[in-house]
This record gives sequence, structure tokens and C-alpha cells, in this order.
Amino acid sequence: MTTQRIIIPPPGPKARAILERDARVLSPSYARDYGFVMERGYGAEVWDVDGNRYIDFAAGIAVNATGHSHPEIVRAIQAQAEKFIHISSDYYHELMVRVAERINEIAPMKEDVTVFLANSGTESVEAAIKLARYATGRRQFIGFLGAFHGRSMGSLSFTASKARQQERFFPTMPGVWHVPFPDPYRPVFAIPSGGDEGDAVVDYIENVLFPDALPPDEVAAVLVEPIQGEGGYIVPPPNFFPRLRELCDRYGILLIADEVQSGVGRTGKWWAIEHWGVEPDIVCIAKGIASGVPMGAMAARKSVGAKWTPGAHGNTYGGNPIACVSALKTIELIAGGMMQNAAEMGAYILDALAEIQTRHPSIGHVRGKGLMIGIEFVKDRASQVPAREMRNTIVHRCFENGLLVLPCGHSVVRFMPALMIDKALVEEGLEIFERAVTEVEHL
Ligand SMILES: *Cc1c(COP(=O)(O)O)cnc(C)c1O
Repeated sequence: MTTQRIIIPPPGPKARAILERDARVLSPSYARDYGFVMERGYGAEVWDVDGNRYIDFAAGIAVNATGHSHPEIVRAIQAQAEKFIHISSDYYHELMVRVAERINEIAPMKEDVTVFLANSGTESVEAAIKLARYATGRRQFIGFLGAFHGRSMGSLSFTASKARQQERFFPTMPGVWHVPFPDPYRPVFAIPSGGDEGDAVVDYIENVLFPDALPPDEVAAVLVEPIQGEGGYIVPPPNFFPRLRELCDRYGILLIADEVQSGVGRTGKWWAIEHWGVEPDIVCIAKGIASGVPMGAMAARKSVGAKWTPGAHGNTYGGNPIACVSALKTIELIAGGMMQNAAEMGAYILDALAEIQTRHPSIGHVRGKGLMIGIEFVKDRASQVPAREMRNTIVHRCFENGLLVLPCGHSVVRFMPALMIDKALVEEGLEIFERAVTEVEHL
């Protein structure tokens, strides 16, 4: 039934020729895990330049939300390209307004929002940081260990997921205080009776950090990923977000949800923070919003966002019309069934992984929401020592057998396929994954 996947062991001769040219002229700063050289993609499948076919569980890092080159996205982009491709945010066009109207409708807060349009995740985070300082008149921030918020100097000051992202770049923006992210599998604090690790982290902020090390009325915002992404696809325990919201309210601190990876339907809801019934003051959006056309957005409660005055923040490309039509169509497709599919396929994969885990002692923990799923590898379940090398080998084995997956955290493999993926491809992908785990466990 299924078409053949690997014809030539990758990277094949055509791929290797491109890797060589790439190494001569492209920045060596890009961190690649393996040599997949893309030729084309359709839905949740991709082909390399040597004709090999792969199932795509990475979706361009959770960006190709509607799958590769969805025909309706392609048509919308083509039609807009014939009208105009750029005009700049010095002028007006209706598509920008429509995108902001749609974001206002789906944003995770009841209050209306104002929307700033950008071109990437890091830019949407920069906008949130600048707005938080501007609107509150305060300068300090709280971020989380293991967080990833981008690589420009402002967002980088919060990023703490990998040493190589930080090395030789200090000092970044001052005023960011890092606290542990509550990880139910690897708690760093004793869990209070009747509570969870989320209570413990908020108690630490309130009783240890506040007020002696950091006066709470100098804190502009807490910046947090609802599900920590690059840090290891960590789902916080139930009490964390409700308690964090209370803490922010008590001290007049803004809560910024970085939904760049977890947002736009990926977890089976528009925004991951909705799983905990908590409203942020600001939400950062990018990755899945426009199916691969670069777009970022920062949506703030009107009472906060309306404090900016003309010239306080801006850019040249934000609200690009090609990105806008792609975002509008992406939101329509996700609302029209893909979000539901993400919830169903996600539950199906988590079930299947629970069963796979019973056969593989190297799988320490499986977690996720919707199609944002992490599998953590350990040397053995009792010691929970991360099995980083093993994880890396599994990622490579998957590639060699026709499945694209990416690592995150210390020893986690993540699944983040397009939201339209169907059960047949999911099963084919899981089979390749389990075979890779078996092979690597027997090395
Ligand atoms: C990817 C990511 C970013 C940065 O996005 P870029 O488009 O790479 O700048 C920020 N926050 C989170 C949570 C991300 O996953």
C-alpha cells in the first residue's frame, strides 16, 4: 500500500553535493542534526533531492501547521502575489486588519486585544518585552530555566535551554531573573502537601525571590511558555498557571504567554494556556500562524496594548500581505477541522506511546498535549539519568529509515507533525520510531 520510502541511504549523492556547497557559503552557526535536503513536500510527507520519501513529524519546527503546500494556502499566496507583495506598515491595507480581527476573536483573553504584527517568534517576544516595560514603567522580569524565547538580545536574555545559545554572548539584557520551570518528571523542589510542583515554584518566587532579592513592585512581567518547547516539551502540573496568575494579579505583574511553538491549535486548543483555564495579558505568536510564510504577532489586552503611542514600536515588513493571506487561510483550515484532528491524533499517539513504553525500558517519560509530544530517554527508569547519546542515535536512525523527528531538552525526541496528519501516516511513523528505539537499545 505505502509507497517506498528510502531508495538511496540518505544523504544520497545529490544531497551530499548540496551539503558541500552549503558548508562553503552558509554561516556555520546553523545547528543541523542530520543531512535532510528537501526537494518537495505535500501534507505530512516530504521528499529529498535523491528521491527518498519521509514522514514528517517535525513540520519545520511546528511551522507547517496545515501540512506542506496545502493547495488552498498555495492558491491564496498566488492570488495575493499578483495584486501586491509589500507596501510597509507606514500605510494601510485590509488584510492586516483582518488578521488582527481574527487574532482578536481567537486570543486567549476575554478583553479585546491590540495586535502588533512581526516576522518571527523572537520579534513577537521583543515586542512583548518592550510593551511590558513601557506599559508598567517597571524594568525587571521573571523567566524560566530551560526556556526558549529566541536569539535576539532581548529574547536571548530569557533563553536558557542550551549552553551554546548563550556562550560568549553575555551580557544580554539585564533584569531577567530565572526560576525553575515545574517539571513533574524531574521536580527540583519538595512538593508541598496537597499541592504540586507548580505550587512549589510559585511559592519559591513569592517567598524566596520576593521581596528580599527582588522587590515585586519592580517586576514588569513574567514571560513563560505554557508548555516548555526547546527545553524538553515539558507539560507543567495543574496548579502552576492558576497560582502564577494569582501571583501576577497580587503584584500588578503582567503575564506573557509565549505560544510561539504551542499556539494556533497545535495542542488541540487555540492556545496551550487554555488547558489550565488561565488568561495571559500578552500572547506571543509565530511558527504555525501562517503555514511557513514568516509571520509573528504580539497580542495584548487592550488596557495594556493601548498604552503604546505612535512610534513607540514598529517595523518594515510586519503585516506583509502574502503572510496575511496565508495566516487567514491557516486559521480558517485549523478552525475547520485540523484543531479537532490535532486533539484526536495527539490522544491516539499518546496512547500508542504508552504501550510502546511498556516494551522499552529506555523510555522514561511520555507527555504532551495534542500534537506537541515529548518522549524522554533515560539510562534506566530508576535513576532517570538522561540518555542523550542514545536519543541522538535514535533521531538519526529515524532519518535513515524515512521519519523526520527533532530532539529537544537533554534526552527528548519530540513529535510535532502537521495538524492534518492522518492515522495511516501516524502509524507508519510510529513503526519506524519503535524500530529505531529497538535497534538502538540493542547496540
Ligand atoms: C521558536 C521559538 C521562538 C523563536 O522563534 P524564531 O522565529 O526562531 O525567532 C520563541 N519562542 C518559542 C517558544 C519558540 O519555540
